[in-house]
Amino acid sequence: MKLEIPYHLENYIGGHLIAPLSGNFIDNINPATGEVVGQIPDSHKKDVDAAVQAAKLAFPDWSTSPVEERFKILNRIAELIDAHLEELALAETNDNGKPLWLSRQVDIPRASANFRFFATGIMHFSAESHNMEDKAVNYTLRQPIGIVGCISPWNLPLYLFTWKIAPALAAGNCVIAKPSEVTPVTAFLLAKICIEAGLPGGVLNIIHGTGPGAGEAIVSHPEVKAISFTGSTRAGERIAAIAAPKFKKLSLELGGKNPAIIFADCEWEKMMTETIRSSFSNQGEICLCGSRILIEASVYDKFKTEFVERTKQLKVGDPLENESRQGAIVSKMHFEKILRCIDTAKQEGGKILCGGNPVNLTGRCENGFFIAPTVMEGLGPNCQTNQEEIFGPVVTLQSFKTEEEALQLANATSYGLAATIWTQDISKANRVAAKVESGIIWINCWLLRDLRTPFGGMKNSGVGREGGWEALRFFTEAKNVCIQL
Ligand code: NAD
Repeated sequence: MKLEIPYHLENYIGGHLIAPLSGNFIDNINPATGEVVGQIPDSHKKDVDAAVQAAKLAFPDWSTSPVEERFKILNRIAELIDAHLEELALAETNDNGKPLWLSRQVDIPRASANFRFFATGIMHFSAESHNMEDKAVNYTLRQPIGIVGCISPWNLPLYLFTWKIAPALAAGNCVIAKPSEVTPVTAFLLAKICIEAGLPGGVLNIIHGTGPGAGEAIVSHPEVKAISFTGSTRAGERIAAIAAPKFKKLSLELGGKNPAIIFADCEWEKMMTETIRSSFSNQGEICLCGSRILIEASVYDKFKTEFVERTKQLKVGDPLENESRQGAIVSKMHFEKILRCIDTAKQEGGKILCGGNPVNLTGRCENGFFIAPTVMEGLGPNCQTNQEEIFGPVVTLQSFKTEEEALQLANATSYGLAATIWTQDISKANRVAAKVESGIIWINCWLLRDLRTPFGGMKNSGVGREGGWEALRFFTEAKNVCIQL
């Protein structure tokens, strides 16, 4: 099977690819060229209603199917993703603007890994039993919830979409999923793969459209019992406001303003290489990117000189070219937002050390949305630039003198997603790790992921954890059964 991409994408409902009931579509734009390359369904409540009906029909069989059956189908989906690596990687890059080598090396392999991980995981999933000596025994049933909603963002499109769908399906739920309207194509192709893999109709339904249109219709649908959402804190707040009074189970993976804490005694070269990566990978459009770099004062100048030098060497270019380290920003709207944030930083007294400007490419990409990786200094911890998520290739440098000051700066935002700590002093690393208010801490590394670990944020970065058993527990309802002996 070749994965053709039609000009008009379709929803995936009840095992079929179908047009939105309204007949309305939204333009899909390649951010590297600025061209409209297709149309995506502008779905609304009626499409979601149809998807829920299909899911209801599918649920009794899917939820009671042997785990070996679910394993086989999900594993087959993983194999088909691998088999279509090239087509999926190209589609991801054309949709998102990220370098093709990155889609090939990270995004698509991770999507198949997600399916494989939860396909095998469900074979080993078990529940607790609590013995009350000679009086009674309790055992816990972890049953599928029913119909669940999965909503994902544009920065790691297939990677994050499958990260939610795979555990939800493995646990026996039927799913209504919505990818970002900015990057819909690989989710559309996943529907084709699911059909090919023999996933029964209605088990997974993929609805395209905007947040307020299709997204809210999923969140507010009375038959959708749980929502797993990854996206901005602002949208998370709105989703929580809709879902909480309906007592839906909620998992929210939201924004970040992550600190990278660099002590003078770190392994310098490794820290430098990884800090470039943690600052600018995927154009800085990863929720885990370190956007506030905190440097011990004694090495601040050394760091600044080397870091700026290396940043200037990152080639901004056509995402299809192997030498490009930085691709396009995902959309015109986001491109303009990042440039506005850079303007704000300047008004706040920030000094631009490099970048800070759009990059005009020639040829195929002359109308694309490119920004030079940007490093700034001279901004205090409480200014807007150091408080609000920019989600682009923009980092600030701040210096600290003591461990306490480093912690104060690290914790000085309303977010708490991820932090990176660089030091060779393992006691200091552990002390700081325990006190940084973040759900995910990397010591002397960045984005080293084990899919079994709890993943998620504190404070305004989210509620709940994904990954491993946490995800399978989220997507099941725990029921205690007590038997008196
Ligand atoms: P977004 O919040 O605008 O959109 C995310 C998804 O939610 C999209 O599918 C969108 O259509 C949908 N949506 C928007 N409003 C909605 C509503 N009212 N009801 C239902 N659905 C709605 O986010 P984005 O701009 O696509 O992604 C960037 C954001 O995602 C950043 O803030 C980033 O930090 C965050 N993010 C977080 C993680 C994490 O794991 N914590 C991972 C990746 C991205």
